[in-house]
Amino acid sequence: MKLREFIAPFEAYCPKELALEKDFCGLQIGSLDAEIQKVLFTLDVRPQVVEEAIRIGADLIFAKHAPIFRPINQLTDNNPQSKMFLDILQNHINVYVAHTNIDVVADGLNDWFCEVLGLNEVEILQKTQTKSLKKLIVYVPRTHADQLRQALGEAKAGMLGNYHHMSYTSNGQGRFIPSVQANPTIGQAEQLSIVAEEKVEFIVENQYLPSVLQTMYRVHPYEEPAFEVYDLNPASNGTKVEGIGRIGHLAEPLELSTFIDRVKSAFHLKHLKVIKASHISKRQLISKVAICGGSAEKLYRDALAKGADVYITGDVYYHTAHDMQESGLIVLDPGHHIEVLFADKLKEKYEQWKTANKWQVDLMVSTVNTDPFEII
Ligand SMILES: [Zn+2]
Repeated sequence: MKLREFIAPFEAYCPKELALEKDFCGLQIGSLDAEIQKVLFTLDVRPQVVEEAIRIGADLIFAKHAPIFRPINQLTDNNPQSKMFLDILQNHINVYVAHTNIDVVADGLNDWFCEVLGLNEVEILQKTQTKSLKKLIVYVPRTHADQLRQALGEAKAGMLGNYHHMSYTSNGQGRFIPSVQANPTIGQAEQLSIVAEEKVEFIVENQYLPSVLQTMYRVHPYEEPAFEVYDLNPASNGTKVEGIGRIGHLAEPLELSTFIDRVKSAFHLKHLKVIKASHISKRQLISKVAICGGSAEKLYRDALAKGADVYITGDVYYHTAHDMQESGLIVLDPGHHIEVLFADKLKEKYEQWKTANKWQVDLMVSTVNTDPFEII
C-alpha cells in the first residue's frame, strides 16, 4: 500500500494542525507515494532503531520525536548520528512524525497516560487553540452544484469530527439582470434571467476559509458568485476547544507514597524524582492529578491553578524545581521516556484500521530501549 493511504486515517484522527506553534509534525523523510509493507512504531529515531528497521525490513518508521530536530550540517558516515540519516536514505526508509499533535488530540498520548493512571473526569490542562468555525453559503446553478460541492469538499469545506464533504442543499431560483458592462455566463444585458439554482451550505474551519473561497471563485460559473460567510455561535459547534496536558481525579484518594508506587508500576519505573516542600508528608492524600508527558514543566502553574495535588511531567529543570517546591505543589518527574507508551498505543489504533480496511501491512513496535538515562 502507499504511505499516503496508511497515513490518511491517522491524519483524520490527529491532524497536523493540532500541533503547537513551530513544531514539526508529518512526513519528515521519504515520499507519500512510497509503497510500504512493514511499519516500526517508536518513541525516538536513534541509530539502533534504524538498524532494527533495516534488520526487520521496515519501510516506515513512525516516531513521536522527529529525528531532524536541530540543523544538520553533514550527511556523512563519520559519526553515528549522521550515518543514521545515510542509512535511512540508502535503505529507502520513510520517517513519519506525530509530535505535539498527538499530545493535544483527544484520545491521544496524555489521555492514554490518564488511562494507565486510573484517572476519571479528565479535562484539558492548558487550552492551546480554539478552532473557530464559519458558515459558508453559496448559490450556484443546479448544473454546476455537484462540481462545486466536490471541489469545496476537497478544499476542506464541510469537515466536522470524523466527517468530510458535509453540506446541505436546498433548491430555489436565482434572479438577476446583467448590466451592459457585465460578461454574464447566463442571460443577456438588461434582461431578467431566472435560473434554477441550489443554495449549498458548508461549515468551514477559519483556517481553510481563504483557500475554500479561492476554490469557490475558480469553479463557480458566474462572473459574480453570490455567497455569504457567517461566524458560528460557539453553542452550535462554533468552537472546538483543544489543549495540552490533562487533569483528572483518582477513584479514591491515595496517600502520596501509594500514588508514587502506582505511577512507577504504570510506567514500569524503578525510580522517579519527587519535588515537594519539606513539610509535605508522604502520607498526604492525593486525589487530583495533572499530567503532561515529555518536558512540560511550564504547565505546573496551570496544574496549580486548577487545584491539582500532584503534577507529573518529565525533564524538570533544577531551578524550576525550586519554584515548584515554593508553590506547594507536589511534582513527580518520571522522565521523558514514559512517552514510549506512544508506540504500543498507536500500534493498537493501527491494528483496528488495518482490520477495518483489510490492509496487507505488518505493524511492529521497536524493542530498542532509547532511554539515555541509567541510575546506578
Ligand atoms: Zn517528548
